[in-house]
Amino acid sequence: MALINGHANGITASDIKLARKNGVMSNGTHNGLDNKKPIINFNPGPAKIDPSVLLRAQAEILNFQQLGISVMEMSHRSADFAKILNGAKATLTQLLNIPENYKILFLQGGATAQFSAVPLNLLQRSPNCSADYIVTGTWSAKAVKEAQKYGKVHIVHQPLEKYSRVPEQEEFDLDPDAAYVYYCDNETVNGVEFSYVPDTGNVPLVADMSSNILSKPVDVSKFGIILAGAQKNIGCAGVTLAIIREDLVGYCMKQCPTILDYKIQIGMDSLYNTPPSYSIYLMGLVLEWIQNTGGLLSMAKKCVLKSQLVYSVINESNGFYSCAVEDGSRSRMNVTFRIDGPAGDSELENAFIEESKAANMIGLKGHRSVGGIRASLYNAVTLEETQFLVNLMMDFQRRHS
Ligand code: PMP
Repeated sequence: MALINGHANGITASDIKLARKNGVMSNGTHNGLDNKKPIINFNPGPAKIDPSVLLRAQAEILNFQQLGISVMEMSHRSADFAKILNGAKATLTQLLNIPENYKILFLQGGATAQFSAVPLNLLQRSPNCSADYIVTGTWSAKAVKEAQKYGKVHIVHQPLEKYSRVPEQEEFDLDPDAAYVYYCDNETVNGVEFSYVPDTGNVPLVADMSSNILSKPVDVSKFGIILAGAQKNIGCAGVTLAIIREDLVGYCMKQCPTILDYKIQIGMDSLYNTPPSYSIYLMGLVLEWIQNTGGLLSMAKKCVLKSQLVYSVINESNGFYSCAVEDGSRSRMNVTFRIDGPAGDSELENAFIEESKAANMIGLKGHRSVGGIRASLYNAVTLEETQFLVNLMMDFQRRHS
């Protein structure tokens, strides 16, 4: 029997079909969707996880590797949990080719906690307690607000009227004395993604990759810190990944809560307090799934293909669909668009959402702060699922324009 996406855990296509039929894979609620058929999940996060990963978690939930207990019931200080944590680190190190002078942390508090942890840990590296920020959307703007509580924040480019593009490297006015330069590689709400890694010279670069981590190969050595919440591309909510260059540690402000102190977390190997153990386990399974399905090159190829499918429909719609984000800054992960003109027609947009639900698609409503439609095409979303969306878009245009 064929393995699902080459997964080596013995879960087959018919296992997944059967699980869905029995309701195991459906959400089982009276939400107007046909739960007997697969749900096509375009949620922005928490988001789709490949069914083979969920089935493996299910198979192991009561009795993890013949231990007679669940991972949820295991001591986080046991040798068995150490294997899970170290296994996740090892797979991640292989996938991203992480150099030896970087430490991997599994933290709590989401990427939001890191908006504070980064300035609290790094600002004192700068003589004037100052950091450079690039602001291309909602999440980097939020990070600025937190950093301003602890020191000076310098936005390194002209403010962007609306979040519709990534500035060019030449537009940056970087401070060589800054403690770090911060940016968000993919702005989940606005659908704006960097196509290049900013060059910050000797100043360490801090990247929020919450919504595009492991969707492409990345040269980790170009970064001081990479941050990512797990719940979009690499698992379920509850754990936040931090990949930190060793020499940046040890400058923490006195008032920094211990839980956010990188030096302490590194010293304790993410076990200063009880870690989100089940979320770490699940991340490990997702990392293995990525490895077994061709790694980051394969993920990157798939992400480009999927997003191009949707952007082509937008580009060829004669303005029926419009994406505010400029070419070259358009996200491969979160495709945002309006229907019937750049301001969008709310009636038509609501009709589109209703029709998408009738076709068993969920998660397409744009973020409440910007409206419109957003299709999140994270690693676990298949080309086939994206094609269903594309078909709906073309059909909807035919009937409504
Ligand atoms: N950064 C980005 C790019 C995000 O998409 C999100 C969450 N959607 C966050 C930060 C905040 O993550 P959390 O809610 O896990 O704190």
